[in-house]
Amino acid sequence: MKIIKKIEEMRNLCIEHRLKKESIGLVPTMGFLHQGHESLIKKARENNDVVVVSIFVNPTQFGPNEDYENYPRDLERDADICLNLGVDYIFAPIVKDMYPSGYSTFAVPDKKMTDVLCGVSRPGHFRGVCTVLTKLFNIVNPDNAYFGEKDIQQLAIVKRMVKDFNFNINIIGCPIIRESDGLAKSSRNSYLNELERNSATILRKSILKGINLIKDGERKSNIIKDAILNKINSEPMARLDYLEILDFDTFEKVDNISGKILIAIAVYIGNTRLIDNEIIDV
Ligand code: AMP
Repeated sequence: MKIIKKIEEMRNLCIEHRLKKESIGLVPTMGFLHQGHESLIKKARENNDVVVVSIFVNPTQFGPNEDYENYPRDLERDADICLNLGVDYIFAPIVKDMYPSGYSTFAVPDKKMTDVLCGVSRPGHFRGVCTVLTKLFNIVNPDNAYFGEKDIQQLAIVKRMVKDFNFNINIIGCPIIRESDGLAKSSRNSYLNELERNSATILRKSILKGINLIKDGERKSNIIKDAILNKINSEPMARLDYLEILDFDTFEKVDNISGKILIAIAVYIGNTRLIDNEIIDV
């Protein structure tokens, strides 16, 4: 496995592999890898000749009051994990090569994709995500790129962007990997102290409350939302950022649920903002 920091070197290596007709799988990450990332890497390893894991804490997707500076980083540990999973290249570019002075061009998803969920709480976030992914896609030129359903709005926006910008890349969504108590794995879980870590189980518990109501036949969004909200409010350390029940295909709010729907929540536990979701076929 090689750790590549230079954009041109990464580009040239990928060109060489393509000339040999080898398929390339890209797993874009911000590092501090956990089993969620590992599941994406394993999938990439199964289906491609060459696996590239990018590790880049992308400044343009963080808001001014977000955790860019404090975001956990540990390239050495990440490299061990990648080596064990049979990764070929870690691409870990440096910020000033990705965004040199004078940098001026951004890929911006339409408002209809970003005026819900994380797009509302994190203005500019998906502009940063789409921009860095466009750059990574252009550098690596992968056949397949792997994304987690944990960041479900990101997955939908990336699929749309790839279609709209004619990238010749398959976007592959992978299921959410959870801790044994249901908490979705996240690099940000490392911010939680012991008390907060226990409280954080409220995200999954509250969504399960909604799922059970639906299983019992409830179809009214507001009733399901109330039940989820009550559950979240029963946890003193939890503060709701958003709770939505949406049509999965259009991301539009629905009063009466039917077909494929998405329950999505973002909750602050102390100062840490966590997200979770469930896709349900009603
Ligand atoms: P991040 O490093 O947080 O930007 O995440 C990199 C990729 O890993 C994204 O596509 C995430 O959706 C995915 N990911 C993060 N956590 C999980 C998880 N618990 N299960 C599945 N995928 C995940």
